[in-house]
Amino acid sequence: MSSSAQIGVTGLAVMGRNLARNFARNGYTVAVHNRTPSKMRALVEEFGGEGEFVPAETPEELVAALERPRRVMIMVKAGDPTDAVIQEFAPLLEPGDMIIDGGNAHFADTRRRERELRERGIHFVGTGVSGGEEGALHGPSIMPGGSAEAYASLGPMLEKISAKAADGAPCVTHVGADGAGHFVKMVHNGIEYADMQLIGEAYQLLRDVAGYTPAQIADIFRTWNTGRLDSYLIEITAEVLSHVDARTGRPFVDVVLDQAEQKGTGRWTVQIALDLGVPVSGIAEAVFARSLSGHAGLREASRGLAGPSARPLGEKEAAAFADRVEQALYASKIVSYTQGFHEIAAGGEEYGWDIDEGAVAAIWRGGCIIRAVFLDRIRSAYDARPDLPSLLADKGFADEIAAAQDDWRAVLVAAVQQGVPTPGFSAALAYYDALRADRLPAALTQGQRDYFGAHTYKRTDTEGTFHTLWGGDR
Ligand code: NAP
Repeated sequence: MSSSAQIGVTGLAVMGRNLARNFARNGYTVAVHNRTPSKMRALVEEFGGEGEFVPAETPEELVAALERPRRVMIMVKAGDPTDAVIQEFAPLLEPGDMIIDGGNAHFADTRRRERELRERGIHFVGTGVSGGEEGALHGPSIMPGGSAEAYASLGPMLEKISAKAADGAPCVTHVGADGAGHFVKMVHNGIEYADMQLIGEAYQLLRDVAGYTPAQIADIFRTWNTGRLDSYLIEITAEVLSHVDARTGRPFVDVVLDQAEQKGTGRWTVQIALDLGVPVSGIAEAVFARSLSGHAGLREASRGLAGPSARPLGEKEAAAFADRVEQALYASKIVSYTQGFHEIAAGGEEYGWDIDEGAVAAIWRGGCIIRAVFLDRIRSAYDARPDLPSLLADKGFADEIAAAQDDWRAVLVAAVQQGVPTPGFSAALAYYDALRADRLPAALTQGQRDYFGAHTYKRTDTEGTFHTLWGGDR
């Protein structure tokens, strides 16, 4: 067998198969392998005309088909299967070769795998890939970590197969060493959870407070999608809301069981944020909202609980309310991205990754699930000031929130009065108000801690650490 393939892909389920096709369509010779070889044969048979594929029945055949340094991309189930596949391939590789893991690995696993393989001279490039199966085929947003040396060899190929932003820039950048790529992909998914939750709350407010039908709300979302909220998620939301169930003739959204599932990357984002001490309250509320929705028994047992009597709005009021919801959604979105980027900065600091936040925003402009016009704004904010401490410190975003805040608050008042749950909008506003507050009740918390546990406190007027001898016999 000639060693002519520039890349090998092992794991040919929806993602691997489409990434392999994407490489081939871009002129690369791709060696393809799957644990169950029939899937590999089916790929070559069905799509062999799209480019050069080298079928490999075994890992040995895949490795033998690759030019040096070898590039082996793993697209298998995250977790133990990824370790098993690494164990299979690593002994067949030589120093300087690369293993690229495009699965949804936890960044801590990626750090471990990178360290172990580095000791053997093999580059391990943990790579976040976003955009689902369509993105994998037509151009995903790609978030590679690993060494700069590996990126020098791999980067041009990834740039070729990646999505391109509206200005033509490829949606890929070397995020940072070892697990940086998977870390950033994790936060991407956390932000995606928050975006979806906020959109869901906007939908429910338009339905329950303003009295719009799903089809009318789809039209409102289509209008929003021509403005500053222009994004993939708003676009598909309009499609989902206007979809009619063929079996019943009812709005599709009314026949779907309202229990949201999750695969884990949103939860990881919150778990890691807790470890890093970063308040990602909007992302956390999105994860909790999914988990609450899944507690069918608890919800059933709570159905009789009292709520306020609903007062649907009149037609004119409803239109004005829809405008306010757009303001609330936009302001909340700024906050959830602020929180996500804070986590990226904190992760970068903790693990020494030196992440360029502006570059991350730039590669999310195309290909991925959270792609949006909005990300151009974030990129510009970081370009103007690379050490921006928070997106809210950007004057443009601060001014927009200032203009939106009255409507944002009015929407939450209506939600509370009418009993519509808005954990995402509420958490975003609470974060905003807490950050801008002159004084927080944290001073009282410190007093309490000192009272019951002699935990000490600092003063506003003097340096040092203090403890008060509280009265009583404690
Ligand atoms: P998947 O369902 O997560 O995984 C199926 C693939 O893994 C098959 O090729 C399967 O081989 C292989 N596999 C499972 N256990 C294995 C083992 N012990 N040894 C060798 N191979 C094993 O496939 P997917 O949805 O295409 O996703 C691939 C990766 O991309 C995952 O890590 C996923 O989290 C990530 N990802 C998915 C999406 C998405 O939208 N689906 C988006 C971004 C990232 P067999 O055919 O032999 O069973």
